[in-house]
Amino acid sequence: MVIAVVGANWGDEGKGKITDMMAEKADIIVRFQGGANAGHTIVNYYGKFALHTLPSGVFYGHTTSVIGNGVALNIPILFKEIQSIVERNVPMPKILVSDRAQIVMPYHILFDQYEEERLGGKSFGSTKSGIAPFYSDKYAKIGFQVNELFDDELLEEKVKSVCTVKNVLLKHLYNKPEIDPEELLNTLHEYREMIAPYVCDVSAFLNQALKEGKTVLLEGQLGTLKDPDHGIYPMVTSSSTLAAYGAIGAGIPPYEIQKVVTVCKAYSSAVGAGAFVSEIFGDEADELRRRGGDGGEYGATTGRPRRMGWFDCVASKYGCRLQGTTDVAFTVLDVLGYLDEIPVCVGYDIDGQVTTEFPVTHKLEKAKPVLKKLPGWKCDIRGIKNYEELPENCRNYIEFIEKQIGYPITMISNGPKRQDIIYRKSPLKK
Ligand code: GDP
Repeated sequence: MVIAVVGANWGDEGKGKITDMMAEKADIIVRFQGGANAGHTIVNYYGKFALHTLPSGVFYGHTTSVIGNGVALNIPILFKEIQSIVERNVPMPKILVSDRAQIVMPYHILFDQYEEERLGGKSFGSTKSGIAPFYSDKYAKIGFQVNELFDDELLEEKVKSVCTVKNVLLKHLYNKPEIDPEELLNTLHEYREMIAPYVCDVSAFLNQALKEGKTVLLEGQLGTLKDPDHGIYPMVTSSSTLAAYGAIGAGIPPYEIQKVVTVCKAYSSAVGAGAFVSEIFGDEADELRRRGGDGGEYGATTGRPRRMGWFDCVASKYGCRLQGTTDVAFTVLDVLGYLDEIPVCVGYDIDGQVTTEFPVTHKLEKAKPVLKKLPGWKCDIRGIKNYEELPENCRNYIEFIEKQIGYPITMISNGPKRQDIIYRKSPLKK
């Protein structure tokens, strides 16, 4: 059986924690899209870790961690990440990398920086990890698949022809130093050494595992609103963040994905530019940012302060629908315990018309939040294990949001640790 763990919003919903927790009962955890541009923060027995490339199941001895073909694979970062966890006494994880995954090249990272510089104030707020140039090249059919590292002749020829194109842009558009094909080839030989022990036909491996009845988790990066098709285009990421893409980015049949656990955070946060209707500012935002997550809402990759906002029912209902949600994991609820009243965005006012349907980007820019205030619970809910033991106002908050979004909240996360989880039988769950 395959379970996807994905985000409903702008990312940073706490997918890492939920995947890490669910990995206890899984055999294989697969990253199927994205790259090292976003990160997951995981707190467990070994300490606190920020993972960018490795799936969140690497901390268990019984799981296999897989990098699927859909991932933007940054080989030195993966290599360093493996070293850094082993150095901190985590047993060497079993890792497999798809022979069809494509490689983030050193020039992708440079082009990302140069393009952001060129765009100046109109930039996309990229993390400059090379992700957009990487996916552009993938679809322009000039990307490098991992298996190509092992074919000397092909590699040399391809490096030469790609450098010709890239150097025109470097020289004439960006006015920057050109790439030396020899040097690039040497770098790729180093990449080959680093990745060789992990390369395999991931699709064949997963299909066999499914035949044997294994449980596979697909771990998404970012969330629905960053999807290039269904998100807030163009302020989106460059690969699909939807559970459906998990079938493609891992190489498994779509009908194998039986459960989609969509992670929603009890308030909103976003990084980078783009419309964010329920955004808050000033002291109100500072306080939520400071108290948020586990030690504040700052980007796991960049350390950038995240933009903060109240829970957005419109965006989350849409976010859950596009994921094909079977279960909602509602996270970071413990953080809201300080508030007397908790505003929730229940509609968008666009030119005087209120809607609960998430609009296309140019209309979204005009949307103003319609807020409803719910009473707070004013206490610490960490450590609670049973739903019924949560304060009444806290349950009301959960049940109100569940009704608004229309998908069953079956898990509630009330702390960053693996065991901080409350399972609930939702009335909406069939
Ligand atoms: P991801 O990218 O979706 O995995 O999310 P991040 O890792 O960027 O952000 C989630 C942050 O919230 C991390 O610092 C987690 O340790 C933390 N976190 C996850 N669940 C909870 C929770 O229920 N309560 C609190 N306080 N923190 C949580």
